[in-house]
Amino acid sequence: MANNSVMIIEDEEALAVLLKYNLEKEGYTVYIESRGNRAIAEIEKCQPSVIILDWMLPEMSGVEICKFVRSKPDIKNIPIIMLTAKGEEEDKIKGLTAGADDYVTKPFSVPELMARVKSQLRRAPEPNEQKELIFEDIRMDLVEKKVFRNENYIHLGPTEFRLLKMLMETPGKVFSREYLLKNVWGDNIYVESRTVDVHIRRLRKSLNEFGPDYIRTVRATGYSIDVHGAVENDDN
Ligand code: CA
Repeated sequence: MANNSVMIIEDEEALAVLLKYNLEKEGYTVYIESRGNRAIAEIEKCQPSVIILDWMLPEMSGVEICKFVRSKPDIKNIPIIMLTAKGEEEDKIKGLTAGADDYVTKPFSVPELMARVKSQLRRAPEPNEQKELIFEDIRMDLVEKKVFRNENYIHLGPTEFRLLKMLMETPGKVFSREYLLKNVWGDNIYVESRTVDVHIRRLRKSLNEFGPDYIRTVRATGYSIDVHGAVENDDN
């Protein structure tokens, strides 16, 4: 994967050029695509570190592109930031369900989008960092960025991976949605707290294929990873 490269898939040329200019100023390599069909070929060729993806595009929608990326083993871990039009609440949820890691509503400020790109790239581990996290039958390989449960590989999107990592670093500790938003999504970013719930739901779905539900919902507070989670989560 090319280091710190961003692919902008956006048919509004002025916006794409503005973003490219600002990202290049920050040292990123930037690719622009405006049409869906070409974009999917280019993602596989360029293997960008982050994709900024517009919802409305000619030929293929952002959601279709998102689903395509998530279905291809060589590119499925690339974080996707979706751009949606103002007021289209349902689009955000659809985008997240299709596998986007984050979304930004138009019109947005350039510094806000820059912050979100950085937050998606922040997951690379430092050389001296711990190599592995283990909680019961769940093992997280921090170098390969892979999660296993009873040695079954579990595919997680980048946001679910960071969420699980945070929980597994301190089992039993209850993290508030606000804390998770700040530390998983990053500073200076406005994300609604129900976004956390959407990603927790997705994380649970993937993890629970191979074992009990250890993610504990603490009513009106937040989430933790806890062996008692499985007993208490009747409502999930
Ligand atoms: Ca568009």
